[in-house]
Amino acid sequence: MNTIATDLDGTIYLQSRIIPGVRDSIISAKKNNLDFIFITNNSSETPQTVKNRLEKILSIQIPVRNIVTPLIVLKKYLNNKNENIYVHGSSKLKNYVSNLSVITKNIKDAGIILIGRKDHFTTDEVEIISNAFNDGKNVFALNKDLTFPINEHEFKDGNGAIVKEIENLIGCEIKSFGKPDRFYSSYLNDNFSNIRYVIGDRVDTDILLAKELNAKSFLVKSSIKNHLNEDIADFKFSTFSECISFIIKNF
Ligand SMILES: [Mg+2]
Repeated sequence: MNTIATDLDGTIYLQSRIIPGVRDSIISAKKNNLDFIFITNNSSETPQTVKNRLEKILSIQIPVRNIVTPLIVLKKYLNNKNENIYVHGSSKLKNYVSNLSVITKNIKDAGIILIGRKDHFTTDEVEIISNAFNDGKNVFALNKDLTFPINEHEFKDGNGAIVKEIENLIGCEIKSFGKPDRFYSSYLNDNFSNIRYVIGDRVDTDILLAKELNAKSFLVKSSIKNHLNEDIADFKFSTFSECISFIIKNF
């Protein structure tokens, strides 16, 4: 059975509202022996929460293991590591991480510094994390998305906004647990076989991830503006449903 890895936000739903045709397409793909995994850079919700929402809007049962988020990739990374973690992020994120490892409020006591999304960040926070990196601490981001869509026309700053400022200060790249980075693609390769197709609305995450996985890439239209060249996608369609029809007909 071949597997389609599909993005969520901007690809199959927008703000919890399903994009028309998605449910029927998933059902017809399954009839054609295609399986799905759901790949997202959303780090503000647990995989279980994402699963519950997906099941509600799709009326289809989905195993939680088929939902891959940066938090799951982080969980695997922290397995058997005994490190204090300093979390820059929401209380929800701190709560999730505290179930995986010991959280410290003092960055000097941390072995790992984790950057998650906050609605606002200060230049002080940028400096504190940059200094810690320069002191030799391991600094990771959950994802490096510059923006995320809040509706068809608007988007907000994503986690990548602070990461970019830190990278400018330290002069090198921060590793992330999100698409399309190595931790994420390795997690997919270790846990799923036959990921042949990747569908998503972002070139910098979804299409680059497809390249990492050696899968065919399908770009759909959405409200987000792609900074990278959209022509690097193998195929471009308006909607998820058009991608699925094409895959069923042609592969
Ligand atoms: Mg998306």
